[in-house]
Amino acid sequence: MKPVIVVGAGLGGLSCAVAAKQRGLDVLLLERAPAISNVGAGIQVPPNAGRAMRYLGLFDKLITKAVVLERLDLVRYESGEVLLARDGQKGIVENYGAPWMVAHREDYHRILYDEAERSGVQIRLGASVKTVGFDMTTVTLENGTVLEGSVIIGADGLWSTTRAQILGYASDPKETGDLAYRAIFSTEKLRALNDERINKLISQNVATVWLGPNKHCVLYPVRGGEEYNLVLLRPDNLPKGQTKVEGDLNEMKLTFEGWDPVLTELISCIPMVLRWKLFHHEELKTWTKDSVAILGDACHPTLPYQAQGAAMAVEDGVVIGHLLGLLGKDYASDPSGPPPEAFASILALYESLRKHRTTLNVSGARENRYMYHLPDGPEQKRRDLELQKVDWVSSTPWKYTDGPYQRELLGHDVIKEANAAYLEWKKVKLGNS
Ligand SMILES: Cc1cc2nc3c(=O)[nH]c(=O)nc-3n(C[C@H](O)[C@H](O)[C@H](O)COP(=O)(O)OP(=O)(O)OC[C@H]3O[C@@H](n4cnc5c(N)ncnc54)[C@H](O)[C@@H]3O)c2cc1C
Repeated sequence: MKPVIVVGAGLGGLSCAVAAKQRGLDVLLLERAPAISNVGAGIQVPPNAGRAMRYLGLFDKLITKAVVLERLDLVRYESGEVLLARDGQKGIVENYGAPWMVAHREDYHRILYDEAERSGVQIRLGASVKTVGFDMTTVTLENGTVLEGSVIIGADGLWSTTRAQILGYASDPKETGDLAYRAIFSTEKLRALNDERINKLISQNVATVWLGPNKHCVLYPVRGGEEYNLVLLRPDNLPKGQTKVEGDLNEMKLTFEGWDPVLTELISCIPMVLRWKLFHHEELKTWTKDSVAILGDACHPTLPYQAQGAAMAVEDGVVIGHLLGLLGKDYASDPSGPPPEAFASILALYESLRKHRTTLNVSGARENRYMYHLPDGPEQKRRDLELQKVDWVSSTPWKYTDGPYQRELLGHDVIKEANAAYLEWKKVKLGNS
């Protein structure tokens, strides 16, 4: 059987490559970058992503590198007054099957990359895919090399090459109107400030989110608490076409003038910052064509206001790998493996399983933006009162606190769902069960 070709070694592509390889398929992973390097930034690993890592057998490795959150606090922007404290473990592990973790991106990525190497995924760095051929399921690299696969999975991120080729037209992600400043600094540096409130903050494994008019900020520990990750979100003022630049520290300080003194003190510690324009995309007409599909940011980029972009990419990856593994098993006795139409049909099944969930995430993140960024006034006061009544079971007008929504987002079992869907598919397509 020809290999599964995965384009892009981000978190989504690696998860897909590892899942397929672990299920007995040959996998070729093509990455444009000549060497693996990661943004120096943190990432939240919500419980659904933790469960996907468990499926790959990598949860134990991740938890030793990550920080398990004791709490996620929403606080008021100018005072730091706690509006809502969410227990990071008790309700979360019980209800959603894994804790809420935070990690350095490099650590998360390294665990997946090492597993890809260990399990025998063929990895080619410096391999940039230029075009995809649908008739023969091929990719052509920038250097002219043509490679043939059984399926091609475009995990090539926000500016995906594969997306336009599946659709037949360019469909770039849309600006959200927000940008992020991202910075990491050492906990040692924070300790040296000798500030009682900062010391209290860093004595616990807590993620703190300051909510303010048109802006919010997120702080959490990474690398076992040796470093802190700070993300400041604000209205976008980058010119069109500019997506990522080094930020002006002074401008950043001025943007958050008058906010909680703890936060402004933290901001004053930042030696260097990156400014990222934030993008998303409305639901795409399709994610697949013949035996080619896309996953992750290539098909459903989102505002990071539910901390779910990578989580969804990793889920996509394990679902594709799982379905391809089941198909491969059912054709194990056939030396030529599954026919192209079976692969195409399995990729369509993947899309049908994943689209609703990922669209729910993109729109949920947009709704969170509205609630996070309420200007001071009656609606903000109502929100703050409602936050005091949250029980994580009942419905609320806000996705972040809506019990049924959170259960679906964080607790949904994507592998169980894929197994059931595959059995149905098999009955219809292969005529047996
Ligand atoms: C400020 C911010 C905070 C975030 N916080 C969180 C969070 O807390 N939790 C969370 O889950 N998500 C978060 N996200 C979202 C998350 O970072 C992304 O959704 C996720 O990294 C997407 O993974 P991916 O594998 O789909 O794409 P990418 O990580 O973009 O990987 C794509 C890969 O494809 C390669 N590539 C591209 N084109 C080609 C080509 N033609 N040929 C070969 N290779 C190619 C690229 O080099 C890259 O390695 C955040 C995002 C931002 C901007």
